[in-house]
Amino acid sequence: MNKTHIFTDFDGTITEKDTLVFLATNLGGGPQMVETMGRLIREGNISLRDGIAGEMRSIRATFDTAEKALREQVRIDPGFPAFAAWCREKKFPLTILSAGFHQIIDLFIDQGEYKTTGDWKFEILANEIKPDTTTGWQAIFRDKTPHGHDKAAALRAAKKRGEYVVFIGDGLSDREAAEVADEVFAKHTLAEYCSDRGINCHEYVNFKDILERLRARF
Ligand SMILES: [Mg+2]
Repeated sequence: MNKTHIFTDFDGTITEKDTLVFLATNLGGGPQMVETMGRLIREGNISLRDGIAGEMRSIRATFDTAEKALREQVRIDPGFPAFAAWCREKKFPLTILSAGFHQIIDLFIDQGEYKTTGDWKFEILANEIKPDTTTGWQAIFRDKTPHGHDKAAALRAAKKRGEYVVFIGDGLSDREAAEVADEVFAKHTLAEYCSDRGINCHEYVNFKDILERLRARF
């Protein structure tokens, strides 16, 4: 079998809550604004990229304030460290793909613990945020696509290298990646999307669940 490469979304997949929704709700425009933005995005009236940029611009808090709130109220899936350890043991490259921000992911993912070693590759691909307490937080996107980060591009490149691509996700920015992957683990709206589109997927609850299923086969 070809080398297996695991790609995973971050917000709502590795974290139990979406950090961007959490920040915009608690430190930015508030629940009403987040709900309106969510609806506009779902109905296709604005792109995810513009929605995220707008939500971030509504935040005037310092990064320290945001960090404190995130550390207090957002947890990562307790099964993720064991899942990552299994990937390392198997030497399966693990890539986090996020429409969110490096600076926030770094609060939860200890780069010392997960860094690339000689025979294991670990990578985080995400957007950047510039917290600004005067003009609001400025999102800097990886590319010009409507999601601000074309996750599927990384999967296509892996497939071109001959890798067997597994993708784990939960939301809107994960759709195209789910279409490209050889094998998909999906929950929430991504699971609905896969089922509507006839894309085969395993529905999962958490990383413990995913690990059990993959471990039985690899
Ligand atoms: Mg997500």
